[in-house]
Amino acid sequence: MTQPSKLPPSRVGFVSLGCPKALVDSEQILTQLRAEGYAISPSYHDADLVVVNTCGFIDAAVEESLDAIGEALAENGKVIVTGCLGAKGNIVQETHPKVLAVTGPHALQEVMSAVHAHLPPAHDPYTSLIPPQGIKLTPKHYAYLKISEGCNHRCSFCIIPSLRGDLLSRPIGEVMQEAENLVKAGVKELLVISQDTSAYGVDVKYRTGFWGGKPLKTRFTELARALGELGVWVRLHYVYPYPHVDEVIPLMAEGKILPYLDIPLQHASPRILKAMRRPAATENNLARIQRWRETCPDITLRSTFIVGFPGETADDFEDLLAFLDVAQLDRVGAFAYSPVDGAAANALAGAVPEALKQERLERFMQHQARISAAKLQQRIGHTLSVLVDEISDEGIIARSAADAPEIDGIVLVKNVAHAKPGDFIKVEITGADEHDLYARAV
Ligand code: SF4
Repeated sequence: MTQPSKLPPSRVGFVSLGCPKALVDSEQILTQLRAEGYAISPSYHDADLVVVNTCGFIDAAVEESLDAIGEALAENGKVIVTGCLGAKGNIVQETHPKVLAVTGPHALQEVMSAVHAHLPPAHDPYTSLIPPQGIKLTPKHYAYLKISEGCNHRCSFCIIPSLRGDLLSRPIGEVMQEAENLVKAGVKELLVISQDTSAYGVDVKYRTGFWGGKPLKTRFTELARALGELGVWVRLHYVYPYPHVDEVIPLMAEGKILPYLDIPLQHASPRILKAMRRPAATENNLARIQRWRETCPDITLRSTFIVGFPGETADDFEDLLAFLDVAQLDRVGAFAYSPVDGAAANALAGAVPEALKQERLERFMQHQARISAAKLQQRIGHTLSVLVDEISDEGIIARSAADAPEIDGIVLVKNVAHAKPGDFIKVEITGADEHDLYARAV
């Protein structure tokens, strides 16, 4: 049997300068390059691209590093710079504007993202069984993009920080590379998730990463803006109402990212929010929501709440219902409080009896159902673009910008002959019930 011929591996040249810490960084990058099937080239001429790991400790080291970059550019032309000099302002870009990308030290993922962007690893049918976008359990046209792990808060009802640790943000270059790979693979909607999306980058002090050869801060707004450039739907989940969240609302108004925010508020009574130890508990959420709506009138707000938290009085609960009336949230989920093993809230006084919790939950859901239904009714007669999820016997099941998959409603479209999952179609809304919209194609 004849074997299919293998493509020659892509070849990376490597220049390593500086101290032992830089040397270890070089070793890690070289190890990763080899693990991904790149060959290491001993000469500039045989290399498809060169990585220069620099030192910026003293003037002489800066000079040496800049000279090495210049030599690699002259001899090869495709150069990625990493190491301490990359963290010293814009000195590399100003001296050598033709470099493909610049990262600081200890930036394995960012260097690999830059290498992937400029020299994709050759597909080897013997070893490469995984597509660039990875293996996804979601339908082909949408994907979850996890930007961080863990959480710096200590909400009294939650044990996630003890299970997953403190916030650990992924490098922004790596997140953007994954997003790009997903879009190239046909994803039409990216759902940004984490435990605390608006805190993205706090743990790394908003460190500057690189994407497409340009510096990009590891920060919520910058990430949202960069994702907005990919030309697909971008939906933000688990966003706490910190003041800086205001910065992404104009991106929604401009159509760069979806006008949709999932903000888990959990309660409205300041006393209960304090007992819950919620992030942004002291923010005036109603005033903030009003400002968001002034900037982006089409914004869809989704939230979740807990009723029957220890110490919740009848007045606290009434405050919560009054909040719903004023906030006019579009989508709301709710749970009756239930103690989780190991959560601090278990020690709080004033446990609400189970029957009362259930009664409050029912009242809460009925209250919000009227609000959500009225809001959906207002959409009848509007024309919108929807994303097709599946074709069913009843018609086409699609979602609008206001509907996240699995948790929100759907748009059921009746009269479409040819459409497939992942298509965008224009529809006119003809009817609505408590959760879903009914439409016809236009
Ligand atoms: S509920 Fe609180 S502690 Fe738990 S993950 Fe969310 S913000 Fe962090």
